[in-house]
Amino acid sequence: MTLVEPQKVLIADDDAINRDVLCELLQPEYSVLLAKNGTQALERATRHVPDLILLDVMMPDLNGFDVLRRLRATPQTEHISVIFISGLNRPEDEAAGLKMGASDYIAKPFNATVVLARVALHLQLVRQRRLLEHLAHVDGLTELANRRRFDDVYDLEWQRARRNGRPLSLALLDIDSFKQFNDVYGHPAGDRALRAVARVAGAHMRRPADLAARYGGEELVLLMPETEADQALGIVQALREAVVQLMIAHAGSATASVLTVSIGGASLDPSRQETSAALFEAADVQLYRAKQGGRNRVMWRTWPEAV
Ligand code: GH3
Ligand code: MG
Ligand code: MG
Repeated sequence: MTLVEPQKVLIADDDAINRDVLCELLQPEYSVLLAKNGTQALERATRHVPDLILLDVMMPDLNGFDVLRRLRATPQTEHISVIFISGLNRPEDEAAGLKMGASDYIAKPFNATVVLARVALHLQLVRQRRLLEHLAHVDGLTELANRRRFDDVYDLEWQRARRNGRPLSLALLDIDSFKQFNDVYGHPAGDRALRAVARVAGAHMRRPADLAARYGGEELVLLMPETEADQALGIVQALREAVVQLMIAHAGSATASVLTVSIGGASLDPSRQETSAALFEAADVQLYRAKQGGRNRVMWRTWPEAV
């Protein structure tokens, strides 16, 4: 996670002396980027996604208000915290800046100690917000995405696939005879095994848009956008085998001497009107078939549907 790296601050000011003073002030603690006009500020912000921007209001090309408006209109930069530093120091200017979504407004001439303190405060808030976002989206035991995160991403990816007529594959994974595993080896060992399976599952999701999430208990869900059924099937077959290769002894299993998983999957068929819930349900049906068929196997819904 980014929590230990030095935080990035972009200083955007057309006045070279101001840039130098602010840079020297912040350099020791933060990773500083510089921009000498509004256009450069936008370009640097998009490229480096800083944690905070110290933004001059009066600049020759795009002024600071324009820059903030454009930052907020772009998904990559919409969350970046901005502090205006401005020679416009009427209360109306300050209020306008804050209303637009700036975190703070510092009037010029500024006091170095106050600037440093405010920057530290806002960067601290950025850290806290990131931590909360992380905790809200990540499962504490496995460190995979949690159910809430999956639900959000699935919704978006499903709509995207539908809209663009693109493939989308979904698989559900469930550890075999896991109750027995806990009974024989104890719950802490069960937790370790679940973490190991989660790591393997995460490692098989190679594309940036792929997502492995903990759906609940010992059940994981794998979302593979832009992935056709045969390709997704290959990936989860490799994943099933990789879990076997972990060689986690499972004396209580009727399936094998080691821990195994069953996987059921389904892919979106662009020619069908199917809801996201129905696609999920189809994967679940296949998981059930994999369990019924003897576990430690993969079942995938194919078209035309086998009857
Ligand atoms: P099946 O092969 O049909 O999936 O059998 P199973 O025993 O895995 O399925 P069942 O749903 O009966 O039991 C699931 C078990 O998974 C019971 C529960 O204690 C265990 N489990 C769920 N979440 C966790 C967890 O976070 N840690 C541990 N150690 N065990 C968990
Ligand atoms: Mg199970
Ligand atoms: Mg289960």
